[in-house]
Amino acid sequence: MTQSNFTYRRFEDRDRSTTDNDIKKKWNQEPITIGESYACPTYVHKTPPCQGSCPSGHDIRGWLSIVRGIDTPPEGMEWQEYAFQRMTMSNPFPAIMGRVCPAPCEDGCNRNELENFVGINSVEQYIGDWAIENNIKFPAPGADTGKKVAVVGSGPAGLAAAYFLRQLGHGVTLFEEYEKLGGMMVYGIPDYRTPRDKLNAEIQRILDMGVEVRTNTRVGRDVSVEELNKDFDVIFWGIGTPDGRGVPVPGGENAPNCTDAMAFLRAYNNGKLKYLSGRIVVIGAGDSAMDVLAVAKRIGHIDDVPEADLPENVILGKTVHDPAMADKRKPADVWVTYRRPISEAPCTPHELKAVIDEGVEIHDSLSPMEVMLDDNGRARALKVAPTAIIDGKLTVKEDEAFEIECTLIVGATGQQGDYEGLEYLDNGRKLIDADATYRVMGQENQFVAGDAVRPHLLTTAIGQASVAVEGIDNFLKGKEIAKRPKVDSHHFSISEELARHNLTPEEYTQGETRGTNEARFAIHNYEDRSDAEIIGADELFLGHFDFNAINKRKETELNPEQVLSNFEERFSTLDEESVRKEADRCMSCGMCFECDNCVIYCPQDAIFRVKKDERTIGRYVDTDYTKCIGCHICQDVCPTGYIKMGLGSY
Ligand SMILES: Cc1cc2nc3c(=O)[nH]c(=O)nc-3n(C[C@H](O)[C@H](O)[C@H](O)COP(=O)(O)OP(=O)(O)OC[C@H]3O[C@@H](n4cnc5c(N)ncnc54)[C@H](O)[C@@H]3O)c2cc1C
Ligand code: SF4
Ligand code: SF4
Repeated sequence: MTQSNFTYRRFEDRDRSTTDNDIKKKWNQEPITIGESYACPTYVHKTPPCQGSCPSGHDIRGWLSIVRGIDTPPEGMEWQEYAFQRMTMSNPFPAIMGRVCPAPCEDGCNRNELENFVGINSVEQYIGDWAIENNIKFPAPGADTGKKVAVVGSGPAGLAAAYFLRQLGHGVTLFEEYEKLGGMMVYGIPDYRTPRDKLNAEIQRILDMGVEVRTNTRVGRDVSVEELNKDFDVIFWGIGTPDGRGVPVPGGENAPNCTDAMAFLRAYNNGKLKYLSGRIVVIGAGDSAMDVLAVAKRIGHIDDVPEADLPENVILGKTVHDPAMADKRKPADVWVTYRRPISEAPCTPHELKAVIDEGVEIHDSLSPMEVMLDDNGRARALKVAPTAIIDGKLTVKEDEAFEIECTLIVGATGQQGDYEGLEYLDNGRKLIDADATYRVMGQENQFVAGDAVRPHLLTTAIGQASVAVEGIDNFLKGKEIAKRPKVDSHHFSISEELARHNLTPEEYTQGETRGTNEARFAIHNYEDRSDAEIIGADELFLGHFDFNAINKRKETELNPEQVLSNFEERFSTLDEESVRKEADRCMSCGMCFECDNCVIYCPQDAIFRVKKDERTIGRYVDTDYTKCIGCHICQDVCPTGYIKMGLGSY
């Protein structure tokens, strides 16, 4: 049970002039009165750590409460659609996030303190898929503001910016260098991880809001920044980091069979690269490296590939593989080298385990030294040297160097932006400098989000785009761009919730505020600290919750034989019953979930349920302060930490 951190006072001694010293004295003299205080319960809304850890700032607790049936949809609406609406307030890609977001929200989830996190990601996948199957659209865009924004780049940052801008009624034209929309969701992440039917459905739903699209158009080459400045009020940059860093050792610069992860994956995702020839060595152990390794195991190897069809010629854009050759695939010889012990690899551990199961050879604690070339200038081997941590420093044992023979070397050691024609944006590190509101430094009408600021995750690009759009909206309205709150998320708003139930407080007209607890101009005894505080597990009453195993999605694990030519998704979607059960594991940190504990355990019957027709989420119970003796039992038995003994203690 949680410990109260206030001083107990006798009920009859409720004299506001009493000091803490007086109280301590009395407490010593009258120990039997422990359990009474001036402090009465107040209802404090805080942000749960799942939401605080989600870079999109999802109202996870809110949509889980819909899925589990606490928050019910308006009449005539299915609960799935209601949950979809709540999810897409923050992020318009639930089906994609539910599949490939590494879910930092789950790492942050307070339920980890009990037995295991809530499977937030799998609920997202279920709702995203349901919305696609049921052809759910976004609401009509906001009223036309007459303002126009050029969104450059159609990755998650650009598409999310287009979505949030259309919600506000601003005109959007999307410029994309490539033929397809989606950025790394389509050219980086392989198709079996972001299935294209799901991705295209989620993109189309955004376009249906009235977004003008110009594909095969590179800004800085086909359209100039001057033209954009002339034709649009604002430019939003979502141009990512499309270039790999190549093979990071001498010899790799000009060899045709030395490439980078971005070029390799683009060739695969374009449908042009269908097989390998000989051993492939991947340098690096981040998430991009894992995708290259997994693709390599799937597309396999073909014997005696003619020179013209060698994989590097496809990657360099000189040729395209014949899909019919896929029948001749054999298991590929795929190696990864990493400078440190593989246990320190920066990739998602789950993805590392998958590629190991699929037969990738791990060669860790090896530093790449040089690409060894043959007489034709092609790489024939990668020279590596063992490493060891000596006195806390990574040391390369150059005298023990040896060669790994191979036919293709892929550098997967990072990404960078392409600033050709956009040189003024490059901060010298092939990224764009922005302030905390994602306005480009020194460019009043230009904003940026996503990998172009700092390569990270899809959800990060989307969260930043949402912040940038708030800034753009203020800029377009001639307002100052507001500072960001400490906990920068899409918070549940009790005012909006009351409005949804036609319970908006009356206008404040009274001059007097004392003795007005019955007045209807305020949300009484409720405090919103969600933009400042995240609620930790120590504020919950964990004893309330039973141990309850996570409802896991089924995952297909492939062995080296099964992986060849297998382009099926690994994670299947939970069914409705399991998804409801999973949402029910949520402990609703920082918000009432209507368990009745406080009503049941209050010895004074001071806590009561709000009348049915006045109830909303966050307004389920209230306190009769004439009965409350400040015993704090309600706070102690509140599983969610929503009750704080605040009232009367200040
Ligand atoms: C191989 C790989 C795997 C990944 N796996 C995951 C994962 O599993 N989960 C996850 O959350 N994140 C993953 N990421 C990270 C994620 O993909 C990125 O963080 C995210 O896509 C960044 O979004 P963005 O919109 O900023 O950039 P991008 O997605 O890169 O989109 C930028 C777009 O801008 C276009 N563009 C660039 N310059 C111009 C120009 N001048 N004119 C017009 N268009 C232009 C590009 O063609 C591109 O379409 C992965 C990244 C890679 C590379
Ligand atoms: S986007 Fe990622 S971090 Fe956010 S709720 Fe979904 S899985 Fe969690
Ligand atoms: S228990 Fe629920 S509200 Fe609490 S952190 Fe986990 S998912 Fe979020």
